[in-house]
Amino acid sequence: MKQHHILITPGDGIGPEVMTEVKKIISFLNTEHLTNITITERPIGGAAYDIHGVPVTDETIDIARKADCVLLGAVGGPQWDGVEYSLRPEAGLLKIRKDLDLFANLRPAIVFDALIQASTLKPDIVQGLDILIVRELTGGVYFGQPRGIFDLPNGERQGINTQVYTTSEIRRVGRVAFELARKRQGHVTSCEKANVMESGKLWREEMTKLQMEYPDVRLSHMYADNCAMQLLKNPRQFDVIVTDNLFGDILSDEASMLTGSLGMLPSASLGACDQNGHQNALYEPVHGSAPDIAGQGKANPLAAILSFAMALRFSLDLPAIADHIEASTRTILDNGIRTGDIMAAGCRMVSTSEMGDTLITELKRTQKKAVE
Ligand code: NAD
Repeated sequence: MKQHHILITPGDGIGPEVMTEVKKIISFLNTEHLTNITITERPIGGAAYDIHGVPVTDETIDIARKADCVLLGAVGGPQWDGVEYSLRPEAGLLKIRKDLDLFANLRPAIVFDALIQASTLKPDIVQGLDILIVRELTGGVYFGQPRGIFDLPNGERQGINTQVYTTSEIRRVGRVAFELARKRQGHVTSCEKANVMESGKLWREEMTKLQMEYPDVRLSHMYADNCAMQLLKNPRQFDVIVTDNLFGDILSDEASMLTGSLGMLPSASLGACDQNGHQNALYEPVHGSAPDIAGQGKANPLAAILSFAMALRFSLDLPAIADHIEASTRTILDNGIRTGDIMAAGCRMVSTSEMGDTLITELKRTQKKAVE
């Protein structure tokens, strides 16, 4: 069986708690000889700052580059609020994303039938929802030059950020979206503001050209503001949405709220494939370090576990095991097992570790069937 190597960076707050459950799942899969995964663990964020004086060390980045993928918990917390900006926990996360050149951020928004009441939209609008947002992560207005706050001769101050994209930046994230759509419903919606922004016009032109290489995938163009409205009006029209860094930031948060719970949302950030087929990748739950519930056994570990399922699918090429974890998650939710964040009347409330244990029991119960 192929050996895989994963770097785990648990981070701060509830990060270590939810990653403990991920490690339990990995250990179960290894014991059952379904995987052969070795793990290296390193601190990141505030945890790394407290030990090393930096939120991520060069050694950790080096291990991340060589690993099949990185699984991250979450970073941050009020105890590091006074730390200089470049050494804050969040700076560690930004550095690892930048150093690994993780340009494509994947955020699925899936509504589990058992949690349909958690959505703020009517059940008939969101039932069966399964959208994948691909956000460009390393370019655009968050990184473009010039930027800064400048003093003007007339005594005013001026804040500047620059939206800038090159054809290669657009095409590489576009490719990720088209490839993913091929494995899904075969539909890409590309969002920009080509009506008022030159970078949006270029984005639209490059996506149109790229689609010629993917004749089996349908391409729609949509202005980003219309996409924000359509996500609320008729979200099931979407399969894969691809968009830039700024619009992706907003649209992926909006789409995730259609599902109702932060504790259920996984994400992946992918880099380019090198000539040996190696692709840098980092998987993490969408939620933060939740200092308000840290250390109390209340955190929902499913977002971190579903992020690991994405790693099995995209980095370890083990889609059947990813399917098995996702199906088992559905089953335990259907059976009324809930952490506090998704609790509903008539359900049974469990702790972080009980949620992990229940999932493993379900994986065991259905394992034979899944492997067949
Ligand atoms: P948060 O996501 O940590 O928490 C928001 C709310 O959701 C809280 O009430 C929290 O208890 C709840 N919540 C979050 N995850 C949960 C889970 N798995 N189970 C149950 N409840 C959960 O966002 P915040 O409070 O704005 O930020 C807290 C810290 O996390 C800050 O330092 C922030 O910078 C950091 N942060 C980190 C990341 C990351 O590591 N990628 C992302 C967002 C925020």
